[in-house]
Amino acid sequence: MRQIGLNSNEIMKEIRDIRKADIQWPFVFNSICSEPLHIGVEAFIKGLDTNLGDNRIFKGTAKVESKVIELLKEVFHGPDMVGNIVSGGTEANFLALQVAKKMRPEVEKPEILFTETTHYSVLKAIEFMGLKYKIVETDENFSMDISDLIHKIGKDTIAIVVNAGSSELGCIDPIEQIAEIARENKIYLHVDAATGGFIIPFAKKLGYSLPEFDFSIDGVSSITVDPHKYGLAPIPAGGILFKNKDIQNYLTFNSYFYGTQAHTTLSGTRGGASVLAVYAILEYLGMEGFIQITKKNYESTEYLIERLEQLGYTLVCTPQLNIVTFYVDNAHNLMNQLETKGFIVSVSRRFKNALRIVINNHLNIDLIDKFVEMLITIDVK
Ligand code: PLP
Repeated sequence: MRQIGLNSNEIMKEIRDIRKADIQWPFVFNSICSEPLHIGVEAFIKGLDTNLGDNRIFKGTAKVESKVIELLKEVFHGPDMVGNIVSGGTEANFLALQVAKKMRPEVEKPEILFTETTHYSVLKAIEFMGLKYKIVETDENFSMDISDLIHKIGKDTIAIVVNAGSSELGCIDPIEQIAEIARENKIYLHVDAATGGFIIPFAKKLGYSLPEFDFSIDGVSSITVDPHKYGLAPIPAGGILFKNKDIQNYLTFNSYFYGTQAHTTLSGTRGGASVLAVYAILEYLGMEGFIQITKKNYESTEYLIERLEQLGYTLVCTPQLNIVTFYVDNAHNLMNQLETKGFIVSVSRRFKNALRIVINNHLNIDLIDKFVEMLITIDVK
């Protein structure tokens, strides 16, 4: 470390230069997260010194977290819903699996069922928590195969994790059918809607025919929904929602902070800035704002698909959300070439000969045109 500190202007100049090395949003074609809304950033800055691990000091900010959950009750059809804004989808999935494990102390080797399309955060949780797991096959739509699920349920199965939708392809599992099976077998059902949570409710209002996924389904115990993805909040802002307090109570950790309710998250010191940001965005956009953003994302997705199909590319699947995966001849080479021209895309994890594009709020039809023109230049079909 320097003996004598630098002047603040010099430091900030360096910070600005550092940020210039990051790819600018209009060239990012693979991110589930997006540029946060300005109102969210402003609210976030107002809460930089807050700590929701201590509700005695930060009474005001703590109340805002309850308001956020209250606002989301209508969106996710959970009249008795409780929850927290956490560090991200990973923490939310950890918390859900911890509840599932604590609910079934009699099971010696607790086992979780999910598909290959499930986000790796579930595997992280399983490893940290010493759980076992089985992968359920997917059907022709890359959703959980019901007959294989029934086949794989055993006496040690404590939880099923379903996608709404998968970060890989945006596919939504048949959650209503799975919930029925989970209820019959008394198995905890967690919905990972980290990606789809801030898309599906609004897409449905636009008339898109998407499966049910939330607390309107009897048998869903918890949902991960991430404001820092399609909720356009600054990072970090994940969300864990439980159907009711009785379920969340399995997660209560007594904190020694006088006047602070027991903790229900992994973090002790927990920044309230994220909560203020999420609140500001929910209030600013309202239902109508989210519906308009979702409309734009679906129109951009449909436009991209149309252009790709005109060029002769084939999709891996018809997307339910705003993730487009299409076959190419040499995906890694094409991805690298696009990057040298400034565009960031991904190679599909499972389909090694396919590129994966995520349409988010920072993209629009003009930018998609620019991207497609570059694709034509590099990958003439
Ligand atoms: N679940 C799904 C479906 C995701 O898409 C992601 C991240 O992309 C996660 C969980 C993990 O979320 P985070 O990266 O915020 O921890």
